[in-house]
Amino acid sequence: MHREPLVVILGGGYAGIRVALDLAKKKAAQIFIIDRNPYHMLYAQFYETATLFRSEKSLETKKQQRAENQELLNSGAIPLRDIFSHIPAIKIEQGEVTSVDPNACAVIFGNGRKLYYDYLVVALGSKTNYFSIPHLEQNSIGMKSVNEAANIRNRVDELFFTTPKHKKITIVIGGGGFTGVEFVGELVGYMKKLSRLHGRPIGNWACVVVESGPSVLSSSAPWVARQASRRLKDLGVTVLAGSAIVDVWPNLLYLGKEKRPLGFDLLVWTAGVKGACEGSIIKVASFDRKMCLIADPNLRVSPYQNIFTIGDLASTFDARTGAPMPMTAQKAIHEARYVSRIIRKLIKNPKATLVPYKPKPSKFIVPIGGKFALLEAGSFRWAGFFPWALKYVVLLKYLVTILPPMKSLLYVANELRLFVRNDA
Ligand SMILES: Cc1cc2nc3c(=O)[nH]c(=O)nc-3n(C[C@H](O)[C@H](O)[C@H](O)COP(=O)(O)OP(=O)(O)OC[C@H]3O[C@@H](n4cnc5c(N)ncnc54)[C@H](O)[C@@H]3O)c2cc1C
Repeated sequence: MHREPLVVILGGGYAGIRVALDLAKKKAAQIFIIDRNPYHMLYAQFYETATLFRSEKSLETKKQQRAENQELLNSGAIPLRDIFSHIPAIKIEQGEVTSVDPNACAVIFGNGRKLYYDYLVVALGSKTNYFSIPHLEQNSIGMKSVNEAANIRNRVDELFFTTPKHKKITIVIGGGGFTGVEFVGELVGYMKKLSRLHGRPIGNWACVVVESGPSVLSSSAPWVARQASRRLKDLGVTVLAGSAIVDVWPNLLYLGKEKRPLGFDLLVWTAGVKGACEGSIIKVASFDRKMCLIADPNLRVSPYQNIFTIGDLASTFDARTGAPMPMTAQKAIHEARYVSRIIRKLIKNPKATLVPYKPKPSKFIVPIGGKFALLEAGSFRWAGFFPWALKYVVLLKYLVTILPPMKSLLYVANELRLFVRNDA
C-alpha cells in the first residue's frame, strides 16, 4: 500500500513553521512539527514584552492579574495551534527532543518515545551563549524566551517597588548588538514611566550598556553604529564600549583585564547566542565554532542525505563575502522555503539533481526607543519615524503568511496598543 512520506520538523520557530506550511500547501507529505513549547516565539517583539507597562488599576483582582500575565506572554508568542489547527496534514507534537538516530531514521524524545521519519528538518534555533564567563549565567537574565522577557519586565517593576527612592537603580545590559540596543532604547521609556508612577527622581536610575567591541552595533555599517550611538546618548544611556565582562557576582561585575568593578541591580545578558543542540542531539555531524550545524550546499547535514538544517542552527555563508550569514528570521525563512522545495523534489524523484542554496542578504530595522528606528537595506538608509512604522508593516506581512489576515491584523493592532504605552 502507498504510504505518504513522513517529514519530521524539529523546532516550531520561523524556519520550522515555514517548511511545514510550504509542504502542506503542496500536499507533499504527512508532517510532524515538534517543539518543547506550544507556541512560536516572536523574538523581535521581546524588547517590548520586557518593558510592557501595566497600570496598577488593572491589577486589582487575581483575575485581572492573570489576564495581564497572559497578555504579557501573548505579546511575544503565538500558539502553534492557531497556525496549524486547520491543516490536517500537520500534526503538532509538544516535547523535548533529546537525540536523533540517523541510522534508524528516528527522533527520540526525553521520555524515550521515538518518532520515525523519511525526511528530517533540524531547525532548533539558538540559545544564549555565556562564553564560560564565571557566574554570569546565575547572576543575569537572558532574552531568548518569552518567559525571560516577562521576567525582566517583572524584575524592573519589582526594583521600583523595593528600592528606596534615594538609592540609584542601575540596570546593566551585557552586549551592544541589535538585541541590547533595542532593549535599552525601550527600557529608558519604561523607567521614565515607572519613575513618574513611583515619584522617583528621574536622575536616580541608570541604564548602562557594556560592549566589548569599539561601539554599539559595531558589526553593522559605520552609519548604523554612529546613529545608534547618538540615539542612545540622547536617551541618556551610558555605553561602556571596549569593555568585556570577565566575572559576575550578585550585584557586582568586573570589566576587562584590570577587573574594574561595576555595581548593578539587574544584569540582562544579550551578548551572544550559539546553536541550540551543541552536538548532543545529532552526534555524527560537524559543528562550527558557534556550535551551529555545518550544512552542505543543499542545506543537508553531511553525511545524511535525508537530514536538513535551517535557521539559526544552520551554519551558512554569504557566497560573495565568505562571511557567516547573520542569524535572522529572514535567513531562517529563506532557507526554509528552499528546503521545502528540495524535499518536494526528492519526494517526486529521489535521484533529482538539486540546485545549491543561494543565501539572501538580510535587511535590518533597529527600533531604538519611542517611535524611532534605523533602517538599512543595501545602500538604502533611514533614521526616524518611518522605519519604526515600517517595522509593524513587516510584522503584519510576516503574520499574514502564517495566520488568517483578520487574526494578523488584530494581533498587530493589539501589539501597537500595548507597546506605545511607554512613549506616552
Ligand atoms: C531578542 C531577539 C530579537 C530578535 N530580533 C530580530 C529581528 O528584529 N529581526 C530578525 O530578522 N531576527 C531577529 N532575531 C533573530 C531571530 O529571532 C532568529 O534568527 C530566528 O528566531 C531563527 O529562527 P529559527 O526557526 O532558526 O529558531 P527559533 O525561532 O528560535 O525556533 C527554534 C525552536 O526550537 C525549539 N527547540 C529548541 N530546542 C528544542 C528541543 N531540544 N526540543 C524541542 N524543541 C526545541 C524552541 O522552543 C524554538 O521554538 C532576534 C532574536 C532575539 C533573541
